[in-house]
Amino acid sequence: MKTLKILHMYADMLDLYGDGGNMEIMKYRCGKRGIECIVDKYSIDSEMPDFSAYDLIYIGGGADLEQQHISADLMKCREGIVKAYEAGTFLFLICGGYQLMGKYYRDADGNEIKGLGLFDYFTVAPSSRKLRCIGNIVISADIGGKAVKIVGFENHGGQTQGVKTPFGRVLYGNGNCAKSKCEGYFEKNVIATYLHGPCLSKNPEVADYMISYCVNRGEAEPVKLAAIDDELEKQCRKVMLDRLLKK
Ligand code: GLN
Repeated sequence: MKTLKILHMYADMLDLYGDGGNMEIMKYRCGKRGIECIVDKYSIDSEMPDFSAYDLIYIGGGADLEQQHISADLMKCREGIVKAYEAGTFLFLICGGYQLMGKYYRDADGNEIKGLGLFDYFTVAPSSRKLRCIGNIVISADIGGKAVKIVGFENHGGQTQGVKTPFGRVLYGNGNCAKSKCEGYFEKNVIATYLHGPCLSKNPEVADYMISYCVNRGEAEPVKLAAIDDELEKQCRKVMLDRLLKK
């Protein structure tokens, strides 16, 4: 039996709007295919893990204060995370976690939280706390060669700029900046997005893309994941897509 190993970082501090649920979805969708899914946790003061031993590293979203609290600790992990990412470990990052992999996040008071600088985007929040991107969002993304509509909920002050390869095109909502056309950041082994929800319960294709990547990593003969009955998920998505996209 194939085992998928996930490291969930700062689960106790970065967990907004059900972000922790993303791990439940990964376990559920792996379990349905007979894939064992182990989710280890890492937070401030945990023993330094071997990041490269993981197939996927996950960081959720969080308020400015929590981002400040974890930033020094995250810096200590920089070398290990970079090494794992370069060796092909998948990075799944939501909102605050997305911001902290860039160069920096400057909050509404002008405090700069240093990011890991893994990617060269940066995020700045407007000085008025009232100017936030809040609400439902729909984007169109290319998931494994297929155009997929991705539904979620966004709530961020931060405006992310300098993204060269976005995750998707905004069909409804804001995205990386207020009223922007692009959302998130994407690479073969990185999905970084502002979409909470949790993202994976609303968008099973995203979960399956990551599971498929992890299962097939380093394998000569790629295997196709067995289909799962997603009728309920499809119906939920239809309600949201009809509500948000139909004029
Ligand atoms: N604190 C960050 C912002 O407001 C991230 C928020 C979040 O993770 N939802 O931009």
